[in-house]
Amino acid sequence: MLKLFNNFNLLQYNSFGIDVNAKYFVEFTTEQDLIDYLSKNLNLVNENSLLIIGGGTNILFTKNYNGILFHSLIDKLEVISEDDNSILLKVGGGILWEHFVEYAVINNYQGIENLSLIPGNVGSSAVQNIGAYGVEAKDCIELVECIDLNNNTKYFFSNEECKFDYRHSIFKEKKNLLITFVRFRLNKNTRKINLDYGELKKQFANHLNPCIKDIRDTIINIRENKLPNYKKVGNAGSFFKNPIIYDEKYNALKLKFPEIVAYPFSNDSIKLAAGWLIEACGWKGKVIGNVGVYEKQALVIFNKGQATGKEILDFSQLIINSVFDKFQIILEPEVIIE
Ligand SMILES: Cc1cc2nc3c(=O)[nH]c(=O)nc-3n(C[C@H](O)[C@H](O)[C@H](O)COP(=O)(O)OP(=O)(O)OC[C@H]3O[C@@H](n4cnc5c(N)ncnc54)[C@H](O)[C@@H]3O)c2cc1C
Repeated sequence: MLKLFNNFNLLQYNSFGIDVNAKYFVEFTTEQDLIDYLSKNLNLVNENSLLIIGGGTNILFTKNYNGILFHSLIDKLEVISEDDNSILLKVGGGILWEHFVEYAVINNYQGIENLSLIPGNVGSSAVQNIGAYGVEAKDCIELVECIDLNNNTKYFFSNEECKFDYRHSIFKEKKNLLITFVRFRLNKNTRKINLDYGELKKQFANHLNPCIKDIRDTIINIRENKLPNYKKVGNAGSFFKNPIIYDEKYNALKLKFPEIVAYPFSNDSIKLAAGWLIEACGWKGKVIGNVGVYEKQALVIFNKGQATGKEILDFSQLIINSVFDKFQIILEPEVIIE
């Protein structure tokens, strides 16, 4: 089914709860609906700016969107192949990520349980290479299927071709590629669980042989206590990426700030905890006007209810400035600014 709207309100389509409109809104439930729409409207599509939106849980709208917004509701999930060790699933980009994780855990398919309770859709999980508790979506993605909105052609990207990196993939650069399906390979050997992440290791220190449901339940519990529910308090999770710096710069910072929090990243670089930097600048729990930093997690900027996107953006710039003044580190938004 295909639905077309003009001047469409996006309040329910972005987790910051920003009251803006899109000039055109195109919603479809199958890949064929999208192909049919494009075959009749390619001129209109090529004349306008384009944006693809999933759950809108990683986007900050600072103004009305003066172009075409595409929203996939493709919700088909099929088994492509399976053997004793693993299963290959083709998952519709419009399925809620959390529903897919729940399905995997119920069926005892291992691989994505550490990514429990991350908001948003399956399509965006590949764009963002979502990650949490030591696991990233790329660890299980085998193939991404997409349609080029500019020429109505279907393309397939292997894991390598997706150029996955920390919260990054080729789809962040090629904004005309709409992901229709993502193929995930999950393990049937549920002993392959990943408990390397510090907080998880601690939680399971005295727990022999946890199953993937135990891990999922624990992570849901941790996340519910640590992060605000975006359906009640507008936010987009971590507003900033954790900065990656070379060892030399890290060693100099460590001398000056011995408590600085960092994680290994590569042979010669370190990932700093952006939340620690923000907290060290005194921002945790601070509110200015309609915008604030969440009191339990300094990486989360929230909308007190009536904020505009511009107010949130300006607030984020104040944080960037003070982190730079203190540490000479430039924070980059993880959230997409439109
Ligand atoms: C409370 C909270 C906690 C969060 N915790 C985490 C976390 O632990 N780890 C983490 O990685 N993220 C986290 N996030 C961020 C967010 O959940 C992810 O980035 C998620 O993948 C966004 O999904 P979405 O469908 O809402 O994407 P959107 O915000 O709608 O879009 C994100 C980007 O993907 C593009 N896009 C969306 N759908 C498609 C598609 N089908 N094809 C091509 N491009 C597309 C958009 O154009 C945009 O560039 C959190 C967010 C919130 C609100």
